[in-house]
Amino acid sequence: MNKYKQIYKEIKKANKIIIARHVGPDPDALGSSLGLKELILNTFPRKEVYVVGNPTNKFKFLGILDKFSPEMYDGLLIVTDTPDLKRIDGAVPSRFKRSIKIDHHPFIEKTCDIEWIDDTASSASQMVAELALNTKLVLNEKAAKKLYAGIVADTNRFMFRYSSPKTFEIVGELIRQTGLDITEIYDDLYMRPYKEIKFQGYLSQHLIFTDNKVAYIVIDDKVLNEYEVDAATPGNMINNFNYIDEALIWVTFTYDKDLKSYRTSIRSRGPIINEVASHFGGGGHIYASGARVKSTDEIEALIKELDEVSRRYIKETN
Ligand code: AMP
Repeated sequence: MNKYKQIYKEIKKANKIIIARHVGPDPDALGSSLGLKELILNTFPRKEVYVVGNPTNKFKFLGILDKFSPEMYDGLLIVTDTPDLKRIDGAVPSRFKRSIKIDHHPFIEKTCDIEWIDDTASSASQMVAELALNTKLVLNEKAAKKLYAGIVADTNRFMFRYSSPKTFEIVGELIRQTGLDITEIYDDLYMRPYKEIKFQGYLSQHLIFTDNKVAYIVIDDKVLNEYEVDAATPGNMINNFNYIDEALIWVTFTYDKDLKSYRTSIRSRGPIINEVASHFGGGGHIYASGARVKSTDEIEALIKELDEVSRRYIKETN
């Protein structure tokens, strides 16, 4: 049985479905989980469907999250956009009756009974849309909007290599079948207060460049307070630094006073970075990774490794 049929069958069978995604959710994590909820309820209005995990104010236009309760354990858990156990927000698959993973990250570990992993997919939202287009799940504009937002955000508006012919075919179908207004989604995704633009200016002014084209910045609490932005903001802005001639890899280290560590977002337009991220307890995709580092010594060590990866890449490609 193919994965589409297998997953659809499990969804059809379950009365209660709980959907989870990774900690520190981005639009793909939220779009894939909330979009899937919409598809399921649209097809099976009598099922109980919950999306759990910590809410985030910035992306609340994608939908409302549900509070977790222990009664959910007798349901089917579907985890989207999350490759490993430690990154699942608010749900442990082994405690549920049955579990499914839908993910586009490179494989790390088996966490669910049924796993559909496609690391060539642009986003988990693309996979959920693909599931809908290949099963009897009924697509509507509300679901398509969430899925499109996830695809657009994870591909950085179709600029990343993961945007394949399949991505465009799926997006075409979402628009064709539901009459989706994509400009409305861009307003929701990209509108921001002026203080964020000023903060982006601060980041641009203070990037440090290594000899081998790694650009980075360490952002402390004081700067976050001065610009009235939170610790998630630099990571959400990192794709805006995509086309700097002098940078092949770029990194933001943002001090998170609650967890007493630096949120680290890494992007690349050539060198493969997720291996380096994994040396520091992190992970992610080959050109988009993240980690949490604990000290300035670790920051230095991470930059040194990235600089070496970039040096080798420059040598090999010149
Ligand atoms: P971000 O920079 O937070 O958007 O993350 C980019 C990619 O790296 C995403 O695919 C994340 O799943 C992954 N990632 C971010 N932080 C971590 C972490 N602490 N551990 C493992 N993977 C991470």
